Amino acid sequence: MGTGKIGAHRAPMLSVVVPCYNERDGVAELHRRVSAVCLEQGLPYEVVLVIDGATDGTREAIFELAERDDHVVAIDLARNYGHQIALSAGLEFCRGQRILILDADLQDPPELLGAMMAKMDEGFDVVYGQRVKRDGESWFKLASASMFYRLLGRMVDVEIASDSGDFRLMSRRALDHLIAMPERYRFIRGMVSWIGLRQVAFPYERQRRFAGTTHYPLKKMVLLAVDAMTSFSIVPLRFASLLGMMFGLLGLVVLGYTLLEWSVGNVLPGWTSLAAIMLILGSVQLLVLGIFGEYLGRMYMETKRRPLYFVNEIVSRSRAAAEGQDLPVHRLQEMAKRAARG
Ligand code: UDP
Ligand code: MG
Repeated sequence: MGTGKIGAHRAPMLSVVVPCYNERDGVAELHRRVSAVCLEQGLPYEVVLVIDGATDGTREAIFELAERDDHVVAIDLARNYGHQIALSAGLEFCRGQRILILDADLQDPPELLGAMMAKMDEGFDVVYGQRVKRDGESWFKLASASMFYRLLGRMVDVEIASDSGDFRLMSRRALDHLIAMPERYRFIRGMVSWIGLRQVAFPYERQRRFAGTTHYPLKKMVLLAVDAMTSFSIVPLRFASLLGMMFGLLGLVVLGYTLLEWSVGNVLPGWTSLAAIMLILGSVQLLVLGIFGEYLGRMYMETKRRPLYFVNEIVSRSRAAAEGQDLPVHRLQEMAKRAARG
């Protein structure tokens, strides 16, 4: 695999990878700001926009950008696969020697690229954004995020920086390692930490969304948290045996007590305590089964070895030209029609 030598004879290329769900009102501004910072770097660059099954006109808006601007690579996925898979798709397709991961909503300011590049010049493979302040997010999101990172930190062997998102600059060799990890349940910021190499935090202030609302409601946040826990730790499985041992000990104590009472002829009706014990044990068993099921289900899904995603269409003038082709024919027809309409 490439380890950074591909572009050695010319200026290294920069890739900006952005997963986009329903972000219609934000893409033009995203394109404007990202292009400006890339031009400032004076390097060849590409902006890889992954359309994750958008339903609000984001697809059309991004295709139009790709038809106008050689730097834009639009990848339209076959359906909505979710943030982490969409991001993985963009990372697999990008060709840069340095790769910036960005959200479409401009919560993470692309203008920090220069400073992150400077940091990487010091010899780091990953420069990851760490949010010191988050504007415009509910106290609930802040509190749950903080709790999540603390819990994760206790369970996981690799250090996953708290308050880091996916906003980061990566070297080609770090990215190649990430791409080599085939798993389906992807908690990308954790996977990047797991790689190792030289990584450094880059503190920044997270902004409000430029347009639209979050696509991470409570349900998706919880799912991401469960993915993170189960992908990086088997501690919950041990939790089961720990609980088992605890209740086993408790049972012995209760048994001793009962025998003692019995020996002095003190036979109690004992309904309440029995019922309580049954209930507790029952729920513990279900809980433990649930944890087993969580891992078993993931193992089952992984054994299918399905591709992570399918692509519907890629629109990119530069990619098409590099392969001696033009844009897909029907795209060209559409463009001609639009031009004729004025
Ligand atoms: N996103 C995506 N697919 C999804 C949900 C979100 O590609 O199913 C993208 C979204 O367009 C954005 C990024 O993932 O660029 C982060 O999503 P969002 O801003 O909604 O999350 P938050 O910042 O609120 O955690
Ligand atoms: Mg966001």
